[in-house]
Amino acid sequence: MSGRGSKKVAIVAGDGIGPEVVESALAVLEAVGADFERVPVEIGLVRWKRTGLAMSEEDLAALKECDCILFGAISTPPDPNYKSVLLRIRKELDLYANIRPFQSQNLDFIIVRENTEGLYSGIEEMDAERAQTMRIITRRGSERIAEKACDLAASRQKLTIIHKSNVLKSDRLFLRTCQATAKRRGVPYEDMLVDAAAYNMVTNPRRFDVLVTTNLFGDILSDEAAGVIGSLGLCASANIGTDHALFEPIHGSAPDIAGKSIANPIGAMRSAAMMMRWLDEPEMASRIEAAVQEGLASGARTPDLGGNSRTVDVTRAVVGLLRGRDTNWS
Ligand code: ATP
Repeated sequence: MSGRGSKKVAIVAGDGIGPEVVESALAVLEAVGADFERVPVEIGLVRWKRTGLAMSEEDLAALKECDCILFGAISTPPDPNYKSVLLRIRKELDLYANIRPFQSQNLDFIIVRENTEGLYSGIEEMDAERAQTMRIITRRGSERIAEKACDLAASRQKLTIIHKSNVLKSDRLFLRTCQATAKRRGVPYEDMLVDAAAYNMVTNPRRFDVLVTTNLFGDILSDEAAGVIGSLGLCASANIGTDHALFEPIHGSAPDIAGKSIANPIGAMRSAAMMMRWLDEPEMASRIEAAVQEGLASGARTPDLGGNSRTVDVTRAVVGLLRGRDTNWS
């Protein structure tokens, strides 16, 4: 990361445990020899407390100018009129596909979550007596997320379309569009009600391969999946659009454990690996993933996984494995 590389990566460390896990991800990227220019962008609650603004137009422009974004976590300012900054970034950069792989010793599935529509439309109002939020589902939005899911499912087993079309008209459009896309792409598919999916995620998660669903369902099922895998701290994600991409662990800023040096950095490291794959460096991505696996197997585990390693211990273990391999290979 000498800055000589032609790629520019915006680094948004953010709030809470965000800076701690981003530091770990950067250490791992450095160890693997990733060469890109770092563009630090301060966004989030700390920034809001300091300046009254969580993100400026210039920040947004800086994010758009970079090849991609490595993101930690941010907290939304405690102001009822403030809309989520991360949602704004996802919308402004049109990061429509949230791809969340879940892997453990005996589980391997991917949740593909639509990231720009559904109940996160931002079209809502509230007074003392009544509140309403508009759930927007479009054919175009459903088709492009279904295409993304089919890209992944094509080299795997099957696609499961998760919905609540027995109650929601909007999900009838989502289901029909996903079914038509899978059929056209020749991808084996099934569909499942979201409540049944929540149950199956706990009782029989191995039945899943690639899941595609709407925004809120994907958000909730992802945290459930993280629990099934063992910890939120293990899980990575990519937010992909047509021209931009943002990589972040799926956890939030976890203010309850911030500053204690016990945050699990694995989700952030795995997000960095997803970023390198997106930047067309698959070998670096695979090396990070392998070192993370080996580090976990060797017992480098933070308290959320029942271990007593600190964030820096896990980072040191994974970086050591990567540097050791470098030496052996040279
Ligand atoms: P936010 O409001 O930013 O979403 P949050 O605290 O509501 O933050 P998460 O950050 O997703 O939600 O965290 C939920 C809980 O999971 C935290 O209270 C924390 O104990 C745990 N957790 C999340 N991330 C990690 C991590 N990387 N390592 C260990 N524990 C974590």
